[in-house]
Amino acid sequence: MPSAVYVHIPFCRIRCPYCDFDAYRAPRRAIEGHSGALLAEIASRRHELRPVTSLYFGGGTPTTAGVAGLRAVIDVLRAAPGILPDAEVTVEANPTPRDAAAFAELRDMGVTRVSLGVQSLTDRLLPMLGRDHTAAEAADAVRQALRLGLEVSLDLMCGVPGQGMADWLADLEAAVALVPGHISVYMLTLEAGTRYERLHAGGRLELPDEDEQADMYEAALERLGRAGYEHYEVSNLALPGRQSRHNRVYWENREYSGFGAGASSCVSGRRWTNESHPTAYAEAVRSGVRKPSLLERLPPERSMRETLALGLRLLEGVDLITVRERYGAERLARVLPVLEGLAARGLVTLAGRAALTRRGLMLYDGVAAEILAP
Ligand code: SF4
Repeated sequence: MPSAVYVHIPFCRIRCPYCDFDAYRAPRRAIEGHSGALLAEIASRRHELRPVTSLYFGGGTPTTAGVAGLRAVIDVLRAAPGILPDAEVTVEANPTPRDAAAFAELRDMGVTRVSLGVQSLTDRLLPMLGRDHTAAEAADAVRQALRLGLEVSLDLMCGVPGQGMADWLADLEAAVALVPGHISVYMLTLEAGTRYERLHAGGRLELPDEDEQADMYEAALERLGRAGYEHYEVSNLALPGRQSRHNRVYWENREYSGFGAGASSCVSGRRWTNESHPTAYAEAVRSGVRKPSLLERLPPERSMRETLALGLRLLEGVDLITVRERYGAERLARVLPVLEGLAARGLVTLAGRAALTRRGLMLYDGVAAEILAP
């Protein structure tokens, strides 16, 4: 089965108050040290790459590695066996004039798609989100990428502090007017250890409640649907033919190779996560003594449950015959009562495929938890 490559660049120029990712503000020397280790890690593991349909640079903010740093990694990967010539190559970027200025060079080195963390197109909300760009700059970055022939995926966030339904509807209108091929809609969640969590605990952050957030999500599905965006995954919509190839690998529980500090891999039934701190990672790669922060061999039943839970994120659902062929009838029979229970409560449908109902979509986290419970 085709697989994917994920490259993690764990550095950011800013620290967004809602984000709990392992992302560091570091001097250029540390970023270059990480880039050197990345190249060495790819060279040492290039044999494991099977037909690869997608390369994805995430973070952090991958553009902190600089155009030359990204080019070096793309060149090494492109020369590796297994990377298909028409592989999708995505780079996450911030919609700032600085990142937009690099888009032409990114395209020329083989990048096909940019994923832009726009979050909001309302100027009043951007400072509270810690973003270092204006709404007009974000829109310009999207237009610039599209003009250059890059595919664009745009992230929008609902339920942010101070946001009302009118702001959200205006964001959706502005996003639709830009005509990106792909839009991701996220609901803000309070993550442990973030500035937002501290402010909220101290009563200094007011957020739209769960019902308002759910209404915003529904409004996004309605408005984007009317504009021709197909809702194909819990948080993702795309114009016809513009779905993310990379994320499909995760949702279909296929193999992926992750490179860089904190990157996860799932290869030949083993899953592990690289050393998360960039300095520790660079030192481990240099010395050859690797200390993955998580290393597990996946029992087939666990893998099957994950295949079902992840596959349900896709609105088309999971083909149960394929699951049976992949894991065996006996294992599938062990999880069928759980699926039937969910179906009896109107959360999934079971007709050759298991798929979320509209109600199941709103309660996806609970559905997945039940399937994953041993
Ligand atoms: S949201 Fe993106 S840019 Fe902001 S801190 Fe997190 S990874 Fe960095």
